[in-house]
Amino acid sequence: MKPNILLVEDEEAIALPLRDRLHNAGYAIEIASDGLIALERASTAAFQLILLDIQLPGKNGIDICRDLRQRGIQTPILMLTAFGETTDKILGLKIGADDYLTKPFDQAELLARIEALLRRATPPPSTMLSFGPIRIDSRAAQVFFKGQPVPLSAREFQLLCYFAANPGKLLSREELLRDVWSYDPGVSTRTVDVHVGWLRQKFEEDPKQPQLFITRIGLGYLFLPPDADIVKTT
Ligand code: CA
Repeated sequence: MKPNILLVEDEEAIALPLRDRLHNAGYAIEIASDGLIALERASTAAFQLILLDIQLPGKNGIDICRDLRQRGIQTPILMLTAFGETTDKILGLKIGADDYLTKPFDQAELLARIEALLRRATPPPSTMLSFGPIRIDSRAAQVFFKGQPVPLSAREFQLLCYFAANPGKLLSREELLRDVWSYDPGVSTRTVDVHVGWLRQKFEEDPKQPQLFITRIGLGYLFLPPDADIVKTT
């Protein structure tokens, strides 16, 4: 089956050649040129990936991204930012986008990023895992905390799943970069720290006093779920 991509872009000069290129690369493409229509389509139809422009009529890309994550929709989002919109990039990643590319971008670069995101988003075969208050439905890519669904970006989800697969094991930042980010050249160990910080915000009672995602200074991180059969020695 062809992966289905929603291309949210209001400039035809960008959208139409991109549609043709992605179509030739084997993807099914739907274009939305208005922010409200894009939000509606992304909320109701099944896409494997969303390419999201920021400046749009109707509703901007940042708000669309935030609304989708708040609705629990985990479709990977690649933001297309205009040159110099650094604040938008950071904000985009913070509210749940998975990657971004600055315009004008090379189409080959975009295709590589799309492939990488689709590869990472492939859910693992197992289905339900529970760690104290955290429940992970890996097949549906849904995570619950104390019974409530928690919106996560695709990367946060991947990172959480990686921790969950290795409870009580010291994981170095390099290992996380290798296995969760596939050594994406745009990513540094700082990105790992930022994502762990976001998981703490979402799952720790007190993110400043983490009990689940523990830092081992100079070494890496340790996931210590409360019901894991592990002796906690800090
Ligand atoms: Ca635009």
